[in-house]
Formats: sequence, structure tokens, C-alpha cells
Amino acid sequence: MKTEQPQTIYLKDYKPSDYLISHMELDFKLAANQTQTHAVLSIKPNNQTGAPLVLNGEDLKLITIAINGSELKASEYSHKDDFLTIHNPPSEPFALTTLAETNPEANTSLSGLYLTHDTYCTQCEAEGFRKITFSLDRPDVLSTYNVRLEANKNQCPILLSNGNLIEQGTVKGKTNTHFAIWQDPHPKPTYLFALVAGDLDCLSDSYLTADGNNVALNIYVERGNKAKAEYAMGALKRSFKWDEDRFGRIYDLDIFNIVAVPHFNMGAMENKGLNVFNDKYILASAETATDMDFELIEAVIGHEYFHNWTGNRITCRDWFQLCLKEGLTVFRDAEFTSDLRSRAVKRIDDVKGLRAGQFAEDAGPMAHPCRPDSFIEIDNFYTATVYRKGAEVVRALYSLVGKAGFRASMDYYFENFDGQAATVKDFLHCFEQVTGRDLTQFEIWYSQAGTPTLNYSTIYNEQAQTYALTIEQSCKPTPGQEQKHNYHMPIKLGLLAKDGTDMPLIIAGKPVANGMVEITEAKTTFTFEQIAEKPVISFLRDFSVPVNVETETNIDDLLFLMANDNDPFNRWQAGQSVAMQAIISLINGAPEADILDGRLATAICKSINNKGLDAALRALILTLPSLPEIGLKIGKNIDYSAIHAARESLATHIATQNQADMLKLYQHFNQDQNFEPDAKGAGVRAFRNALLRDLNKIDNTDHQALLVSHYKNANNMVDMMGSLSVMTNLAGFDAAAYVNDFYQKFKHDHLVIDKWFALQGRAINEQTLSLVKKLTTHEQFSFETPNNVYSLIGSFVSGNPVGFHALDGSGYSFLADTIIKLDRMNPQIAARMLTPLRSWKSLEPKRQKLAKQALEKIIDVNNLSANTFEIASKSLNF
Ligand SMILES: [Zn+2]
Repeated sequence: MKTEQPQTIYLKDYKPSDYLISHMELDFKLAANQTQTHAVLSIKPNNQTGAPLVLNGEDLKLITIAINGSELKASEYSHKDDFLTIHNPPSEPFALTTLAETNPEANTSLSGLYLTHDTYCTQCEAEGFRKITFSLDRPDVLSTYNVRLEANKNQCPILLSNGNLIEQGTVKGKTNTHFAIWQDPHPKPTYLFALVAGDLDCLSDSYLTADGNNVALNIYVERGNKAKAEYAMGALKRSFKWDEDRFGRIYDLDIFNIVAVPHFNMGAMENKGLNVFNDKYILASAETATDMDFELIEAVIGHEYFHNWTGNRITCRDWFQLCLKEGLTVFRDAEFTSDLRSRAVKRIDDVKGLRAGQFAEDAGPMAHPCRPDSFIEIDNFYTATVYRKGAEVVRALYSLVGKAGFRASMDYYFENFDGQAATVKDFLHCFEQVTGRDLTQFEIWYSQAGTPTLNYSTIYNEQAQTYALTIEQSCKPTPGQEQKHNYHMPIKLGLLAKDGTDMPLIIAGKPVANGMVEITEAKTTFTFEQIAEKPVISFLRDFSVPVNVETETNIDDLLFLMANDNDPFNRWQAGQSVAMQAIISLINGAPEADILDGRLATAICKSINNKGLDAALRALILTLPSLPEIGLKIGKNIDYSAIHAARESLATHIATQNQADMLKLYQHFNQDQNFEPDAKGAGVRAFRNALLRDLNKIDNTDHQALLVSHYKNANNMVDMMGSLSVMTNLAGFDAAAYVNDFYQKFKHDHLVIDKWFALQGRAINEQTLSLVKKLTTHEQFSFETPNNVYSLIGSFVSGNPVGFHALDGSGYSFLADTIIKLDRMNPQIAARMLTPLRSWKSLEPKRQKLAKQALEKIIDVNNLSANTFEIASKSLNF
């Protein structure tokens, strides 16, 4: 056990900084094991307390320190642990000069300044800047920057930082050394600082903004990858255009640079004017990227670009407000994807992700509000709750105030908080001022943890021609929050007549606007009038609030909704609800033979033959709820082997009954082999691969032959991965030759090799764990490369619940050993890998015991990082 426990930081303790830094002059002399940073900070007291000046600085060697040009005596400052304290700083504005040294080569945490292959790269969010130089490393201290970079010309022909390039040249007297000076006129907090230096290829283009500025666009990639950045460049231009059209936001520098690097902890980072990306979100071609990759590249590029206004121009006052920038920007990127692709498919994908990730988080030890009250390590709060639920809350706000009200409120927010560090309250206050709505109760979405539950009941009064809907809300206690308040929720709904059309919604003689009612109480009744026949209710259309609906609709109504609902989300949801009921009854021992008398399979057959639905939606309808979704629904005593067996038997039943239709559809949708990475093409490919997958639930050599030809004839990565993933999960099928063939084809592309690792980690069969262990020694695998760890180990522990939760606990011990190893090199990744162990209490007792032992083994390690300590201890104490 760690002798000294990491400290908890509380929102209620927030205090403005005693000092501000208006400007920074940074001068870097880059060297792999000894980079020197000369920093001149223009500091001014923020109040007259005469408090000591306490600067952050981690793993830094302090060489010199001076104030207004005079070197400080040893008694005037102290440098201890992670702080540099100046005991009696001047009471007037002053210049603090430091010279500090770091070792990028030794930095495996990928936070601060580090090397990725031979490129210097930084990651400062949330608290990486303190590993670069001494400063006030907090988001409410905003400074302008001048940055000078100096490095060897041959090793680093490219020298980049934030803002605009103002000068470059050879260093006098050193012909092999050059420099570049970058100036960022927009004040920003330290977490948005970036520098990159290396030998990179560059794809260039330009964008003419709505206000007539011709912005130079550059995407820097490792040598040889330029062609694979073209799709990303198109996505970047679409992002510029979309933010101008939808939000009136225009870019504000002369240059926008993106750098793609192979070693990166997160997806990407929105550093002002210099976004740094995990290269998996930049590089793509038909041969190497799936449709999901293309969609994600577009979405992540959009997301980081949109941060320029929601995050950079208006930043967060403190890290508790993280969802102010993240929830809002995820909402914006979801709208971007919805406008450019299929809105219905994007909505379904997002809700599936929310349920599997965020609802699970809410049900476990790490349950926290979108705006947390406390944390030990902020890196642990880049969570599904902050991102996904944060976006759902903004979406609910959008529903409440409407499209025009939302845009007007956002304009007002940009106008009033530009150049400032804001809070969630500031944001909501703008909406109140513009729309006149009271959002006091709505703010509970930000302060209260847990997934709310809705129950509803209905009474049809034939005589009065009324339909009464009573909705009840509740929320279970979460750690530290026993008592819960009621939420303010917009509920979208429809009432369907027998012919499948929507009835007009009228309450108290007035039409219900936008098919939406609002609830604020624990229990509310709405009486709809002029209802001529008993309707079927389509409840919570478009998933208008992130809740669990507990009321079980009867199967007849669900099947009716599956065939008729005008809301594509609920049409899909109806099928999922029937499937969920069927799977749970199978787990509870219902005989396989009479699964709903074949009615679900018949309804699915109708839907997949429905030409009015796009192919992507048909693929989603064919896909049963995932193992984590089913596990979450069951909630306790979870046995993933039993869940998997039930899910497989339902899939086999559906495929067997619909075999002829599925085969015909497969053949039809397998004709179009042109590859365009657009929504339509992606839908066709998703559908044919879903059909191929389900046809192979039936033990049939013809279908296996199709599988083989699908792989052999594939001209794109989607079809290759689609067929390979079926092969590796198919009992009795020898996939090894194909897996090896794939490796030989793509061994020179590290991003495809990550897919190859993931494919093997996800395969549900007895040998997977021993194979995963073996692959950790593969020449292309490194524990120091986060993408490798996510692909191979992440796909096993998070994407393969059957293998990971093996009854003998082997999955848990493997993860414990892995985390202990990772914690020493990269605490952020180690803590994130703990996610599948967090829900140990929901497992059946035998597995519970073994999972707990694994957590205990981790917590017993000496000098565990604060990151891993926080998650492991909270999990154990849950
Ligand atoms: Zn973000």
C-alpha cells in the first residue's frame, strides 16, 4: 500500500489564482535527453494578499531563476516535490525568468514533452504543461505566448507551435541548427499549449472563411503517409464550413495545423491552431480503414476543430467544469455527423455507446455527476459521463429551448464569455437570459450522478376519448449522493393509431408542440384529448433524455412499433426490447423452441426487407443487444457465458427462420463493390456484413463458403474485417490461415496491425487468453504504445466479456498483472484499463471473489500512481 495517500480535490474549495500570467516568452532548445526551456513569465498579482507565488513543475530540473533580471538567492525560493515557491514576490507586475530541463526520451507517460518515434510532441491537457516548464498550470490563468523553437535541421526540419509563424531561420554560428518563432495572440491556458518538431510529410490545402480570410491548412504525418491524410483534409474543410453555417463560428488564425502521431493517450487534442492527433484518427484509405474509421476521423476532426470556440476561445474555469467544453463539443460533433450522414443511425449508435459505457459507469463505483464535486486525479474524469452524458444533457437543453432558442443562446454565450474561463452556471445563465426559461432545476443534470429511471402507465377512456399518461421519475443512490432530486426532463412521444399514423397530440384544447411534454415532478399525468381509438404509445422518442425506461411494453405493441413507428429510433428500440425480453427469458430457462412463436424473427424479416429503411438501419435492426447492454439490464449476478449462450441461440433462431430471405438480401447487397466512404456505401457494407455474420450462426458449409469468398474478394477493409471476425468466432472453423494471410498483407501498416490484434482479442473461444498473452511478446506489440494496449488487451478485457470473465479468474489475474506493469510507464492508460473490473460487484459470487482479489493485488503495489489508486480504491470500497 502507498504510504502517502493521494489528496482529494474539491469543487467547493475553488479559489481564483493569487497571481496571473499575462504573457509567456518560451524558448526551447530541443534535445532528446536534455531539452532546455527558457521561460519569461509576465506575472501580476491578482489580489493584494502578498501570498507566496506557488508554481507547478513536475520532473523538472531548475537551472536558474530570476525576478526582473536579478537572480534569486536560495533563501528566496524553495523547490520541493512538484512545486516551486517564491516566498515574497513583488507586489507590482514583474518578470519571472526560469531555465529548466526535461528529458523527453525518458517520458513514457505521454504527458508533457515526449518523443513519438523521433518526433517531439506535447500533450498538456489536463496537467502536462507542468512537466515542460514552471508555471501556473490551471485553466483559469490565460496568457498570450511567443514561442521560439530551436533544433537540429536534419532531425527536425519541421518546427511547430500554436498561433501564427512569424519568423524562421538558421541559428547564427550554427549551420546545422535552425529556429522558428510562433506567436499566439489569443490568450489561452497552459493546457492548450503545444509544440511539435520532427521530420514529417505535409499535406497542404486552404480554406476561405466566411469573412474572407484564406487559412492555410496543413496535416503533418509520418513520412510516406501523405496520401492517407486526404480524407482527413476533406473532413477538416467540412468542419470549417459546418461551424460557420450552423453556429456562425469562423476560424481566427491564418494557419491551422494538424499533426498525426502514433503515440498518444487520447483520441486527439484541440491545442490552439495546432491540433495533435492519434494517427488512427487521421490516416485512412479504402484498403486500410473501415467505414467506422472514416466516420470517426470525420467526427474527431470536427470535434477538435469545434473546440476552437467551445473550449479554446471560451475555456473552463476549473477542471470540474470539463463537461462545459466536452459535453457541449460532443453534442456539436454529433450534430455535424447527423447533418452529414444519417441522423437516425448516428442517434442509435450514440445511445448504444451511452448505455454500454455511461450507464455502466453510473451503476458502479465511479458514478459521478457531469460536473463532479471532487477528484483525486483529473485524468480519471475524461469519462463517458463527462463526454457522452454531458452531450445528452446539452441535447436535452436543445429540445427544451428549440433550434432557434439554442442558436440565439449560444450566440449570446460566445459574445459574453469570449476570451474567458467560464462555468456550467455561466453557460446555463446565457440560456436563461435569452429564452426567459428558468433552468434552476435543469442544472441538476450537471450536479447529480446516476441514471434516472422512468416508469409510465396509461389509461384509455373510450367514452371521454381521452388517453391519460402518468410518468414517474426516480434515481437510485450513488456513492456520496443518497438523496436525489427530481430532474427537469423533456419527453418526446407519439400516439399511433391502428393504421400506424401519428394522432394529433392535444392537451387542454391546445396542440402539444414538437411532440414533447416536460416533467419536473416525481409523478405527472398528461391527459390527451380527442383520442378516437386506443392508441399505441411510442414513448421517449429519439431518446430525448438519458434515462432507463423500466415499463415493459407488451410484445404485441412492440412488434407493432417495430413495423410502424415514425420515429426511427423507437422503431429500432422496439425490436431491441423484444430481443432483450427473449434473451432474458432464455437465460431464465425458457425452452428455445418457442421463442415468441417466431414472431420476433418474422418482424425482423419484414424490417430487413423494408426498402423504405436505409441499409444501415436494417443492419442495426438485425443486430441483437450487445453483451454489456444485456449485462446491464440484468444488473446483478451476471454470468456472461450464460448471456452469450442465450444471445447466440436467439440469433441462430432468427437466422434459421429467415435464412432464404437473408441469403437473397446478402446476394443483392454484395453486388455493389464500389468503395465510397460515405453514409450510403457504409450502410450497404454494414448490412451485407451483418447478414453474412448471422447466416453463419447456422451450421452450414455453403454459408462458410460464402464467408471465405467474401474475404477473398474483399476490396476494402470493412469486408475483410467483417469476414475475419466471423471466422475467428466460428466454432469448428480453422481461421488461422486467414488471420495469417491478413497479417502478411498488412504487416507494414501499424494501424491495420492494431485491428489484427483487436480481432484476436475479441474472439470468443477457449484459446483467446493464451493467444493474447503470446501476442504481447509479438515484435509489433509494445506496452509503451497506447494503441497496441487498447487493441490487444483492451479488446480482450472490454470487448470480450466471455473470455475476460472466465470462471477460473484467469482474465482478472492477467489484467491485474498488466495494470501493475503499465502503471509504472503510463498511469493514465493503466487507470483506464481498470474499467472492466469496476463493475465486479454485479458479477455472480464466484467471479466476484476472484475479481476482488485482482483489485486487491493492484492496490497492494508500492508507489501506485494516483490515477490507478483512485479507481482501484473506489472500486474496492464500493
Ligand atoms: Zn474534446
